[in-house]
Amino acid sequence: MDFSKWVLLLLIPCLFIPRSCLCSSKPGLTPEELARIPVEFLNLAQKPEIVDYMVGIRRRIHEYPELGFEEFETSKLVRSELDRMGIQYKHPLAVTGVVGYIGTGKPPFVAIRADMDALEMEESVEWEHKSKVPGKMHACGHDGHVAMLLGAAKLLQGRLDELQGTVVLVFQPAEEGGGGAKKMIDDGALENVDAIFGLHLSVKFPIGAVATRPGPILAACGFFEAVISGKGGHAAIPQHTIDPVVAASNVIISLQHLISREADPLDSQVVTVAKIEGGGAFNVIPDSVTIGGTFRVFSMDGLIQLKQRIEEVIMRQASVQRCNATVSFSVKPFYPPTANDKALHEHFKNIARDMLGPDKILGMEPLMGSEDFSFYTEVIPGYFYYVGMKDESLGKMESGHSPHYRLNEDSLSYGAALHASLATRYILENQQKSDAAKESSHDEL
Ligand SMILES: [Zn+2]
Ligand SMILES: [Zn+2]
Repeated sequence: MDFSKWVLLLLIPCLFIPRSCLCSSKPGLTPEELARIPVEFLNLAQKPEIVDYMVGIRRRIHEYPELGFEEFETSKLVRSELDRMGIQYKHPLAVTGVVGYIGTGKPPFVAIRADMDALEMEESVEWEHKSKVPGKMHACGHDGHVAMLLGAAKLLQGRLDELQGTVVLVFQPAEEGGGGAKKMIDDGALENVDAIFGLHLSVKFPIGAVATRPGPILAACGFFEAVISGKGGHAAIPQHTIDPVVAASNVIISLQHLISREADPLDSQVVTVAKIEGGGAFNVIPDSVTIGGTFRVFSMDGLIQLKQRIEEVIMRQASVQRCNATVSFSVKPFYPPTANDKALHEHFKNIARDMLGPDKILGMEPLMGSEDFSFYTEVIPGYFYYVGMKDESLGKMESGHSPHYRLNEDSLSYGAALHASLATRYILENQQKSDAAKESSHDEL
């Protein structure tokens, strides 16, 4: 082994341990000291230098939105900010993903996550930092999510001496239908990680409030596309054709019966045909019609069952009208349901109560929307919550995926402080638990 390799070997363990972290373990904190942490993080996150930092990052990303698995510039920006903060990271995971590590490099490991991708749509909001990329827009707030995770990294760097464990910063690609989370897991993003927290900005809830629930919060989701083929011809001579338009119409109606006649009315499910393409003239019956849509349910078993019935209904109903059909489910990956871990719900409530007050923790019903955060919660305990941005003084704010979507930048401090507090307290409390367990095992001896 030559000299350079020896130097490298000696350096590798040091790379994992940030400079200011080489401190002795702090003795256990009192409940009062623990309760102060979220308040202090929020105070810090609302300081002009941190707010300006996050707003600046968010606006830079907003101007240059990138679609799933193409977040090359966003990823580069994330890495250069982590470099600047002296935070070690792994890259690439899932093409553009980045995983940063703050702390000792030792357990407990707790992850906080942001998604980085934009949507394929045109921005209709006229403002200084409008998207400069035609046909692409950050209309789901993921630009804000990245800014908040970087903001949280800054907050955590300021309290490294308390981190007797490791915070894992997960910057993932392709949440919007691409299943980036699944690829991040396949590439090792959750190695050693004990728990993961994720958030989403929402205009439905007021600024300064959070909304969440234990158990199922978002549905499992699948997509389908079908081509129904007949025989085209003159619209005035239907007897010489096999009309796929009428067949497709019957298919669409029959698909609705899967929910109204086959699903348990108390088990929420959705089948929506959102796409229909066929023909281009008033007087021509086309050869084929393409339909496509989505189906949602709160269990993977339910999703598989619906998939099977959707295929059967399309094939058989098409054949009633003498048409053939092909059905494809591979247009986008299936997402599992997102279920919040019950113990992490208690952890979240404690932190949100200490930071925002009990009246700012809003309950919510499960939503039929989906999130690829669900892939994480399939593997380890996970927790997903909404951070409010509604502010009457800003006028009506459109919800996500609208070309008129606006992000209330005042919400960024709350998200960053929640990220940092959830992770810090998780490490502290689990450290204290394991210390207590060690002590009690000594007692037994
Ligand atoms: Zn979205
Ligand atoms: Zn989103």
